[in-house]
Amino acid sequence: MPLAVAAHGTLSDESLARIPSAGADFDIYKGKLLAPILIPRVPGTPGSQAAQQHFVRFFQEQLPAWEIEWHNSTATTPATGDKLIPFANLIFRRDPPWAAPGDVARLTLAAHYDSLYRPEGFIGATDSAASCAMLMHVARSIDAALTAKWEAAKASGQAGSGLEEERGVQIMLLDGEEAWVKWSATDSLYGSRALAEAWESTPYAPLSTFASPLGSISLFVLLDLLGARSPSVPSYFQTTHWAYQRMASLEQRMRKLQLLASATAKQFLPDFGKAMTQFGRGFVEDDHVPFMARGVDILHLIPHPFPPVWHTMADTGENLDISTVDDWAKIVTAFTAEWMDLDSLLPTIPAQHEIRETAKTEL
Ligand SMILES: [Zn+2]
Repeated sequence: MPLAVAAHGTLSDESLARIPSAGADFDIYKGKLLAPILIPRVPGTPGSQAAQQHFVRFFQEQLPAWEIEWHNSTATTPATGDKLIPFANLIFRRDPPWAAPGDVARLTLAAHYDSLYRPEGFIGATDSAASCAMLMHVARSIDAALTAKWEAAKASGQAGSGLEEERGVQIMLLDGEEAWVKWSATDSLYGSRALAEAWESTPYAPLSTFASPLGSISLFVLLDLLGARSPSVPSYFQTTHWAYQRMASLEQRMRKLQLLASATAKQFLPDFGKAMTQFGRGFVEDDHVPFMARGVDILHLIPHPFPPVWHTMADTGENLDISTVDDWAKIVTAFTAEWMDLDSLLPTIPAQHEIRETAKTEL
């Protein structure tokens, strides 16, 4: 990956203060982003379709500038015999309006939206409904600034000059991450395996900057198992430790500026100072694997240890720590805004910005 992608400006304190909280939209019963995802979402079931519709409708109605792409595949699973189960990944993308698709390097933010087949009725609030809601919030929080940035580039005549790398952003909501019987190379990652393979073998036009949509991924940021109180997310990969450090330093600055609501003794991202010699070969298998195997750079935001509710019936909305969910959404928004060079372009937050009661009692 070209090192040039790292050359972006730091967000000012003023910009950090403009990163919006999702507030009531993360309410687990009525919140318009999160509540509709807190249902069982087993691939091929009505719950899965309801979640898909929720995502698509949100982008169609509120963020019409984002291109929507469905990636469909089918597979059998060890739990369902010869029946072909449908898996549908959803990709929401904003590129510079003048750029050819093969010329855009895309920050890629991903989470899986499917839920476990068993135990029946499993919700998967941290796994990964909350992460999906966070990514919806990221998209809407940067949308106006992206428009402003690209309109300014057009007005100044710099659009498409080729002097700067064309930078876009895409959100992947992936299906079929979970194993149906027991995690293995074939019983897991149904959606991401099919997508990485398809993207690798779909060439862009000759003379494009990138060979394929897979090659256009500048960084693959995967959110998983987020939403429980006091998470600790290690830096897993030496090659992307610089990106981890950027996010960790944004978290640290936002805490210092009292822009985060969660009560936590230490940072969500504690590994800023991890030495290069401390990186081992260990990592957690997840949707990044098919992309990593094809050379994509990965930032994996998954806590170690996993939340205590992991893969139990207790992984429900009630057991999320909403301040933590909101803080993650803000941290990832800040990271995305910095990556996309949106300093000074973020709109001011309307006056209804209020600190929730839960946050107050925690402090
Ligand atoms: Zn899981």
